[in-house]
Amino acid sequence: MRRARKRLGQHFLHDPIVIGKIITAIAPRRRDRIVEIGGGRGALTAPLLERAGRLHVIEIDSLLADLLDERFHGSASLTVHPADALKFDYSKLADDGVPLRIVGNLPYNVSTPLLFRLLEFRTHVVDMHVMLQKEVVDRMTAQPGGKDYGRLTVMLAAWTDIEACFDIGPGAFSPPPKVRSTFVRIRPRPAPSFTVRDEESFARLVARLFSMRRKTLARALRGQLTGAQIEAAGIDPGARPETLRPADFARLAELEGPP
Ligand code: SAM
Repeated sequence: MRRARKRLGQHFLHDPIVIGKIITAIAPRRRDRIVEIGGGRGALTAPLLERAGRLHVIEIDSLLADLLDERFHGSASLTVHPADALKFDYSKLADDGVPLRIVGNLPYNVSTPLLFRLLEFRTHVVDMHVMLQKEVVDRMTAQPGGKDYGRLTVMLAAWTDIEACFDIGPGAFSPPPKVRSTFVRIRPRPAPSFTVRDEESFARLVARLFSMRRKTLARALRGQLTGAQIEAAGIDPGARPETLRPADFARLAELEGPP
């Protein structure tokens, strides 16, 4: 069998107990519209297809995409999309209004941009079950003030509920990665946990403030907002961005408005 391509984060699951735990956590039902990202050699594809009856798989490596096609040959219920999950238009799989369930043992080198991409399509998604580097899950679920708290935490907090299901050691994969992994459930919320009036200015402000996370807000927002304006929003202008709660970013973005 061809060697795994490191550049594409290819660490294939081979532990049947771990695979079983993952499938139990996802609890696929017949007629669920499941989209698997990075099918690889099919460790999750096979049990998902068996339970759900139908499946879409996105796989960037054309050799693996062909291998999946061959392995499940004759199964009209598997659609392999040889494509980049970072550029994929997920809405086209849900254009009849059936919401998607996203599943994946994600390539760790692109997991953060992939989560941001999936967030863009959240109205088409009912849930996501993904394997991530443990360190990324720590960032997703961090509290204000710590080193893990950042742009990813705040952007996900607005629109999703996150539940870390279980950790998985490197031995479950071949070849084993250097890091520990966590399997996580992400559910887009029907309504955001706080009001975000303008999504673009919110996203822009969060990105900008976390690029200056150790400056005071007064300094980081100089030229955009005065100390008095920040204070009027109930936020201390002497605070650092990394200590703000997610909803505080939304209030500041509201004051600032579009560029
Ligand atoms: N699901 C398989 C398993 O659990 O054994 C494979 C998991 S492996 C960690 C990640 C898979 O994602 C690889 O098959 C890799 O080729 C694929 N991949 C990497 N980057 C991708 C991208 N941008 N879009 C789609 N697939 C990608």
